[in-house]
This record gives sequence, C-alpha cells and structure tokens, in this order.
Amino acid sequence: MICPYCSNEMRKGYIQCRDGVSWTPKKQWVSALSSFAKDAVALGTDDKLMPNGTAIAYNCENCKRVIIPYGGEN
Ligand SMILES: [Zn+2]
Repeated sequence: MICPYCSNEMRKGYIQCRDGVSWTPKKQWVSALSSFAKDAVALGTDDKLMPNGTAIAYNCENCKRVIIPYGGEN
C-alpha cells in the first residue's frame, strides 16, 4: 500500500489484541472487551483464536501513521 500522506511504500503488519481490535467513537473507560462498546467497528479478522483478534495494518515509518483497512480480506 502506498501512503496517502507521503507516497512512500507502507509496510504490512498486524495489530493484535486478545479482546479484539475495534474502533469506537468514544474513549472506553475499560479497554477490555471494547468490541462490545456502542457503535464499535470490528477491525480484525478471525485468527482462529479470536474472531476479531488480528487486524492487518500498514505502517508508514516515514510519517508515523498506521492504516487499518477492515471489512474483509485486505
Ligand atoms: Zn507516509
């Protein structure tokens, strides 16, 4: 993936959490089980341990940004 900010090639990797990887519109008081928060968006895929435990993420080491596509195989 090409970084949309600086146009450098991004490095593919993973963000993992045993409780699932989610985006939430509000900061959670308790980070555990954030997948169940109101309006949570699951970012991860099934890693055979957790259904939402591993998100594929692209890291731009040049401008220190990570992009996480979600909603299918990426
Ligand atoms: Zn960049």
